[in-house]
Amino acid sequence: MLWLRVMGLLVAAALACAAARAAYAEPQPADGCKRAAAFRAIIDVGHTEKAPGAISARGVPEFVFNLNLAKRIEEQLFTAGFQRSVLLITEGPARQGLAKRVKRAKELAADLFLSIHHDSVPNRFLEKWEVEGKERSFSDRFSGHSIFISQDSSDYAGSLLFASLLGGQLQERGLKYTPHYTDPIMGNRKRRLVDAHAGVYRYDQLIVLRTTAMPAVLLEAGSIINREEELRMASAEHQALTSAAVANAVTAFCKTHQPRLRGMRRAEPARSRGKRQRPTVTPVQQSGSAGLSD
Ligand SMILES: [Zn+2]
Repeated sequence: MLWLRVMGLLVAAALACAAARAAYAEPQPADGCKRAAAFRAIIDVGHTEKAPGAISARGVPEFVFNLNLAKRIEEQLFTAGFQRSVLLITEGPARQGLAKRVKRAKELAADLFLSIHHDSVPNRFLEKWEVEGKERSFSDRFSGHSIFISQDSSDYAGSLLFASLLGGQLQERGLKYTPHYTDPIMGNRKRRLVDAHAGVYRYDQLIVLRTTAMPAVLLEAGSIINREEELRMASAEHQALTSAAVANAVTAFCKTHQPRLRGMRRAEPARSRGKRQRPTVTPVQQSGSAGLSD
């Protein structure tokens, strides 16, 4: 009966191997990123409670919209296996808040920085209406999200990759980006569109995009000065769509983007890195054409 015992042992060993494989594979969904557990995304809540950014058509501060959406995004990322995700909430007046934000982001040495904002318009486009007996400002002129990156980022290619993935995911869910940032009527707020398919613009001067020392992207999730879009931005359904788009884009980014060595990231001076990555820069405001080359 020795052969029976040997067969039994072989079957048991095979089962143990299969169980080990299953246990190893279990934490990751079939289409997830294998390094999700080690990957860190920072979800930055734009502005602070004290300096809350734009005011919506119905008088709600942008910071409230940013916080709500960023929390939904963080939840989605956790569900997708990104347990090291960090929700970055900053306090204090505007400029001080900006410095704190950048310092904290650098300390966290993350793989990705995504700043969440909601859009408004230049003051000259504002009209007046009354909400609950109070005069408020609105503009229904523009609607849609927009995505910004800086060519001065320490990882411009990574920033562009994530921005394009995010734009693609938003588009797949039927959400349209706003093209108005290429329009001359935007004056000094006019931006260059670097991915016309995904709605990615260049905004080189933005401090959080330039100085956070990692792939960095800013999402204006929609216009809260637009009366209809404000209601959409406040809805759980729309927040769920945007959060799912972000989580899928982070998964795709995590799979394809090769992280830089953290030691190298610290050792290399930011200034020289920035200079090497800006070969032929034309002024941001001068062109609204699509295409990656300057
Ligand atoms: Zn903002």
